[in-house]
Amino acid sequence: MSRIAYVNGRYLPLRDAKVHVEDRGYQFADGVYEVCEGGGGRLIDESRHLERLKRSLSEIRIRMPMSAAALGVILREVVARNRIGYGIVYLQITRGVTRRDHAFPVPQVEPSLVVTARPLNMARNAALAEKGIAVISVPDNRWGRVDIKSIGLLPNVLARQAAIDQGARDAWFVDKDGAVTEAASANAWIVTPAGKLVTRHADHGILRGITRTVLFDVINAQNLAVEERAFTLEEAFAAREAFITSASQIVLPVVRIDGRPIGDGRPGPVATALRRDFHRYAEAG
Ligand code: PLP
Repeated sequence: MSRIAYVNGRYLPLRDAKVHVEDRGYQFADGVYEVCEGGGGRLIDESRHLERLKRSLSEIRIRMPMSAAALGVILREVVARNRIGYGIVYLQITRGVTRRDHAFPVPQVEPSLVVTARPLNMARNAALAEKGIAVISVPDNRWGRVDIKSIGLLPNVLARQAAIDQGARDAWFVDKDGAVTEAASANAWIVTPAGKLVTRHADHGILRGITRTVLFDVINAQNLAVEERAFTLEEAFAAREAFITSASQIVLPVVRIDGRPIGDGRPGPVATALRRDFHRYAEAG
């Protein structure tokens, strides 16, 4: 079965799903995106993802091409047409197609909207979470507004590749003060020797992950202590546990950072319990 994508009003086989060479997403990375977990006709945390999308668009002054409800219908339709049992749906909105010029087009053009979906291997992800992953640290050389879910991801791409080149799985960005900001496509967390969870406060220096937001509910329900603040790489080396969160990986334990084992070098009980309970607190629409 061919995969189906939605492109500007049409559902098309992936091979025919194309955008114009003068799309501003292609030319300037002038656009934003969302990734949502879903399957079996449901989307996880749809309203939170669409709220964040609205915010990202408004920060870069692109208008919503349609209502959140209408977008939700398209997301579900793409999931259904691809017969996704468990997977992710990807949505991208750019400023549209126009002659190449850095300034916004005048008059405005229609934003471009693309939606794709693909299955995830649940068993493989679970096996990875049982083993944990290694990460490397890299300087955070991204722009100053990574709270906007921009499609301009070159530093993230290079960071992830550097990790793979060094036999690790992901990278943690470290800012000029030596503090960990987040992972290449996930938020970063540690559990301190005293058992407190720490993740960076959501300023302009990280993306406010939806998984991160939901995890606070799980943490509260489990009566765990949590602090939103910057933490250094040194603190991470000395942590009892470390993990990352994202819509596609939920909670994924980190067992090595820059080759150093974290805790006993195996996924810890806190990350494991948070992962187990996550879907009880996520919204399934
Ligand atoms: N941080 C970055 C840079 C990301 O790209 C992502 C997800 O793609 C996240 C954090 C986690 O966000 P979410 O939990 O909404 O998937």
